[in-house]
Amino acid sequence: MRKPKILILGAGYGGLMVATRLQKSLGTNEAEIVLVNKNDYHYETTWLHEASAGTLHHDRVRYDIKDVIDRNKVEFVQGTALEIKAEEKKVILENGEIDYDYLVVALGAEPETFGIKGLKEHAFSIVNVNAARQIREHIEYQFATYNTEVEKKDERLTIVVGGAGFTGIEFLGELANRIPELCKEYDVDYHKVKLICVEAAPMVLPGFDPDLVNYAVSHLEKKGVQFMIGTAIKEATPEGIIVGKGEDEVEEIKAETVVWAAGVRGNSIIENSGIEAMRGRVKVQPDLRAPGHDNLFIIGDCSLIINEEINRPYPPTAQIAMQQGEVCARNLTALIRNKTELETFTPDIKGTVCSLGEDDAIGVAFGKKMVGSKASFMKKMIDNRALYMVGGPSLVLKKGKFNVL
Ligand code: FAD
Ligand code: NAD
Repeated sequence: MRKPKILILGAGYGGLMVATRLQKSLGTNEAEIVLVNKNDYHYETTWLHEASAGTLHHDRVRYDIKDVIDRNKVEFVQGTALEIKAEEKKVILENGEIDYDYLVVALGAEPETFGIKGLKEHAFSIVNVNAARQIREHIEYQFATYNTEVEKKDERLTIVVGGAGFTGIEFLGELANRIPELCKEYDVDYHKVKLICVEAAPMVLPGFDPDLVNYAVSHLEKKGVQFMIGTAIKEATPEGIIVGKGEDEVEEIKAETVVWAAGVRGNSIIENSGIEAMRGRVKVQPDLRAPGHDNLFIIGDCSLIINEEINRPYPPTAQIAMQQGEVCARNLTALIRNKTELETFTPDIKGTVCSLGEDDAIGVAFGKKMVGSKASFMKKMIDNRALYMVGGPSLVLKKGKFNVL
């Protein structure tokens, strides 16, 4: 008898959780499981700001997918998904197509540029290993070039980070540590370097605990970060950015490096496939299926779930993607076994910790506020836990963060 085929798109936090849970819950005779991912490696999206700043080598943030899947149970296909043809139950890849009985979409996020002119052409975004490596190399190139030119271009030493959300702040924390090293390495006067964060909202980390935000701002300011709060990036140009305060006040900031970290949207494949979405994110049913699609699960950054307490969407996080992955695997197992009752997904938010470089952080975990080395220790434990959840102790030993003292 033909086995039902489960196709998982994306081997990030959500996709790998589904694959590794299904390989345990289903027997080889029960279903065929296929995992498709652009690269043959998984990367820790939550560590990409470190690779981008150059404080962690990019090879440290990735590992081979084949190291964590059971190849007797899960077939891995390296490929780029282009379109989901839900009616025909197939996915078009760059090099071919794959059919399915059940589909899990776990393709992660893309930068949300809100249609701001020039951003796609002139700004970087921290989106994957290749982008992180390019940002690191680009910054180093600016430092290396600065001293070789007779006419000094100070904008080579100006780095603008757009957005003071968690990504922007974590990246600034790493950069603030990296800049003194770069100055030493490339004979650059530290005082010439400008690290500017432009944030449209009236505060850094909008909505986060104000005491923790003050701690973060003062920590980063001491390390040379300049904050432009209540100031929006209006345009990116080959020379830098145009920012605006209110309607009339505009200013040009010349910068050779602009990193856009001001929000994300779901993978464009969702919209390109005609699946109803808001900014590429599908408001999924409580069982994580897309409305109107009995065999299509959407998890991670491509999904949207509402926090009923405040009637607003939960911010997309790895924490939620992994929890969804577990529930999705259980629901798929139930469907394969012809059970009709599926589990409802409810996020269990254990907290939020934001790093400020390697040795400092702020956060709330299990209801407790924390700062400094304690928060930094917690952050590394969270990073290690994510590895453990997917690949067990051997992956933690191979890739974990043990610089905790
Ligand atoms: P991802 O983990 O991003 O995985 C998507 C996968 O799909 C990737 O392997 C990608 O290569 C693959 N893919 C994409 N397009 C295609 C395609 N067309 N075809 C085939 N494969 C494709 N969240 C937290 O909870 N805590 C944190 O501390 C935290 N820190 C963060 C730091 C940074 C710098 C960033 C950018 C995000 C951070 N987040 C954090 C958010 C978190 O990373 C995301 O919410 C999480 O990665 C979402 O998981 P996912 O499975 O949906 O997507
Ligand atoms: P975000 O949406 O959380 O923050 C984006 C910031 O950019 C906001 O503060 C917004 O006001 C600002 N902004 C928007 N438009 C702007 C403009 N034109 N000019 C200047 N500023 C502008 O996005 P993010 O920081 O990329 O985070 C994405 C997701 O990943 C979030 O859900 C976040 O919670 C998660 N994340 C979590 C962690 C963590 O838990 N440590 C770390 C990184 C990211």
